[in-house]
Amino acid sequence: MRSVAPIGKGLHFRPTGIRLSIKVDQQNQVFSKPMHPTIAEIDLAALFRNMRRIVQRVQPSEVMAVVKADAYGHGAVPCARTLLRAGATRLAVAYPAEGAELRAAGIEAPIHVFAGYFAEQIPEFLEHHLELTVSNDEQLRWLRDAAARARRPVPVHVKFDTGMGRVGFPWEQAPDVFQRLRECPNVQFVGLMTHFSTADEADKSFAREQLLRFQAVIDAARRLHVPFQYWHAANSAAILDLPETWFNLVRPGVMMYGYYPSDEVSHSVKLEPVLRWTSRILQVKTVEPGTPVSYGRTWEADRATTVATVPVGYADGYRRSLSNRMHALVRGRRVPVVGRVCMDMIMLDLGPDAKAAPGDEVVLLGQQGDAQIDMTEFCRALDTIPYEITCMIGKRVPRVFVNEDASGSRDAR
Ligand SMILES: *Cc1c(COP(=O)(O)O)cnc(C)c1O
Repeated sequence: MRSVAPIGKGLHFRPTGIRLSIKVDQQNQVFSKPMHPTIAEIDLAALFRNMRRIVQRVQPSEVMAVVKADAYGHGAVPCARTLLRAGATRLAVAYPAEGAELRAAGIEAPIHVFAGYFAEQIPEFLEHHLELTVSNDEQLRWLRDAAARARRPVPVHVKFDTGMGRVGFPWEQAPDVFQRLRECPNVQFVGLMTHFSTADEADKSFAREQLLRFQAVIDAARRLHVPFQYWHAANSAAILDLPETWFNLVRPGVMMYGYYPSDEVSHSVKLEPVLRWTSRILQVKTVEPGTPVSYGRTWEADRATTVATVPVGYADGYRRSLSNRMHALVRGRRVPVVGRVCMDMIMLDLGPDAKAAPGDEVVLLGQQGDAQIDMTEFCRALDTIPYEITCMIGKRVPRVFVNEDASGSRDAR
């Protein structure tokens, strides 16, 4: 029997947005499935093992676990707890509200907020003890004013653009930026950072060029005696392929959740997918040849066959463009999605003499027995990357946390 992760008091999984209660016995070991039939099962033990392997690979560098966007759709709070138990020393999110959510759950580790800020957001950072990222002149001015009024040093990371072309001070301006930063009272210089744009490509020459520019930024900080605690640049791709970018802190995201950032990177760290997306058959019927299925009659049976209806649709993130293009697993067999994906339902062609019944598990992404629908297949069908797939699973789909007892929990029995 799989166990379920305790999250807060009495609430044992955390659907983002909606809350359903499920029954758990006194040992927290048994759970009845949530009422909603479509779930994203999150294997905390796999997440734990992925992080252990990352920690072992990069040590003595520290690891900042990136749990932005609700841990890439996996559920930020239980994932953050597991990742910290597995050896991450810090967390990162994109926005202050995401940091506040972790604080509200009682998480005390340092939290770095990647996206910049507006002046009026700074009190929210201070209230929740979140670390800011200073990326441009306006933000530097707002920081200086807020820090002067703050009652304790404001923790900041300073971001330089070395070629990503998104946010950050231009790397050539490092000496000037550091001069101005030194004049800010009451600032704690936590990190000096940059971000790679092509570390996941086979050709690493531009990533190496970015690294040289970042080295020049670090040298300028040293010359001007700005006392940064960390220098950091490495995302998952750089962790896998560019050890010279690790410095004393790395920032893995997608790899923690079990996916390689592209198919051009090495597999120098073994990774296991953490998420399984499942539903259950709602209805089974046999249909005559020529029977049309779903909106627009884009598919009709070419033989007598069995069609199953499954309660998941584009409102759950099962994209409409998967109509007539994707497979799912039923009783360990691959079966095609037929007809248009609806808002709340899809149909599967189980074949002429299929045995299946309402309630049977349907796997949309992940393993069932020896069969699997793997992430690569999903990415190809939607012309995208694993990052977008896990983020697109909707908030109507409860995240159900399993295998917490093998995820380093001190409460594990
Ligand atoms: C999202 C993000 C990461 C993690 O990237 P992955 O490719 O998922 O490892 C690291 N650093 C920054 C600044 C990010 O925004």
